Amino acid sequence: MEFLPLFFNMHDRHCLIVGGGSIALRKAQLIAKSGATIDVMAPNIEAELITIVEHTGGRTFVQPYCDSPQHTYALIVAATNDNDVNTAVSQDAQKTNTPVNVVDNPALCSVILPAIIDRSPVVVAVSSGGKSPVLARQLRTKIESLIPSAYGRLGILVGKFRDAVKKRYKTIDQRRLFWESALNGAASELVLAGKESQAEDVLQQILASDEEFNQGEVYLVGAGPGDPDLLTFKALRLMQKADVVLYDRLVADQIVELCRKDAERIYVGKARSNHAVPQIEINELLVSYAQQGKKVLRLKGGDPFIFGRGGEEIDSLAELNIPFQVVPGITAAAGCASYSGIPLTHRDYSQSVTLVTGHLKNNTTDLNWPSLSYNKQTVVFYMGLTGLPIICRELINYGRDKDTPIALVQQGTTPNHRVITGTLETISDIVIRKKVKAPTLIIVGDVVNLHEKLNWFTPTSQLHCNNQTTV
Ligand code: SAH
Repeated sequence: MEFLPLFFNMHDRHCLIVGGGSIALRKAQLIAKSGATIDVMAPNIEAELITIVEHTGGRTFVQPYCDSPQHTYALIVAATNDNDVNTAVSQDAQKTNTPVNVVDNPALCSVILPAIIDRSPVVVAVSSGGKSPVLARQLRTKIESLIPSAYGRLGILVGKFRDAVKKRYKTIDQRRLFWESALNGAASELVLAGKESQAEDVLQQILASDEEFNQGEVYLVGAGPGDPDLLTFKALRLMQKADVVLYDRLVADQIVELCRKDAERIYVGKARSNHAVPQIEINELLVSYAQQGKKVLRLKGGDPFIFGRGGEEIDSLAELNIPFQVVPGITAAAGCASYSGIPLTHRDYSQSVTLVTGHLKNNTTDLNWPSLSYNKQTVVFYMGLTGLPIICRELINYGRDKDTPIALVQQGTTPNHRVITGTLETISDIVIRKKVKAPTLIIVGDVVNLHEKLNWFTPTSQLHCNNQTTV
């Protein structure tokens, strides 16, 4: 982060704008909204700018820039089209540590003015760190369309109730839970529908009720196979809400980054035969944090109920009556197949798909081989890399054609996504020759032949490689 975002209280404080043209005018219009008193210094000053200055109670200095400000300014803005003047303003301001913004010249700025979405008292600021104001403005336009204009009224309502809520609920956690519940519920809907007085009644009723807001909760959330864009809206919402996050080895760092910034993060990942935190301890952690009144997010790769031990993790919660929700995620089979152009079913080639574990116990897989060997079906093996030779051998032994196509998908949907194809007879040798990185998924069936034709996804790592070869 190159700049620290801060919201500056400019009420009744003085700001100097150097420059009298249209750029200075735009800055003055923005800064005036904050309640600042604006002075302007320039040899020529546009009439509209003079009106704004007078409105804020400020003064105009019709003269070239000189370094003798009458006030100690809280903010100085250089908005001239003369680089020497802008540089002088910046240097003079920095001598006295006065925050200075130079329009379109980040190198001369100690502060930058972000693009703003104004739903006062709610204000969203977007900055590209001075790199691209256009990009920041485009993002602002997108955010504008997402935040209803009535959000400001919601902010005013919250402000009105702040003290009452503080009196009623003693801990910060209780107050946060109160507001989360209120803002997710009827009160907020009523404000957005323009019914403020009814919204106030709803908040009064909650305050008068015996609801204590100290009940913890667990969210068991599927994070998908790797690409953060494959998260569900619900997953993201709960990720932003949780106080504590317990996450797995399979959950990409970029996804963990999307959790609430101040949430406590606990890595409980396990390698296949190397349990970092034993399952029973994970279950206990979920219970114990929830019993402390926390919102606990258990973030799992793919889908929590598909080879994810989700059932075991919520078992003790259910026994202890701890509230929980389960949010499905895109499982590795769906993600890897889609991003590899391999439809898992197809009217011509495969009438069913079976998801099985390829995890070996004592070097054998205890699977129903006869049923997996029927030709017109797709079989997807999770955790199957180590057992690959045994899987191929058993499928052939039980009658599946040795030329049946098979794909091994490495780190599906991520920048390292790679697909290695072969047949039941050849794939084990091919995989030995290629350096394969976990996790990998194995897809068996005629649908794998469609990969060549339907493949559309080029991972960023490969784009990068291609660039290097062409350079
Ligand atoms: N709950 C997860 C599966 C966990 S079991 C889900 O629904 O996807 C772990 C196995 O999932 C790995 O050994 C691998 O076979 C598979 N897997 C998970 N993510 C993967 C990915 N991005 N690419 C390939 N395989 C993946």
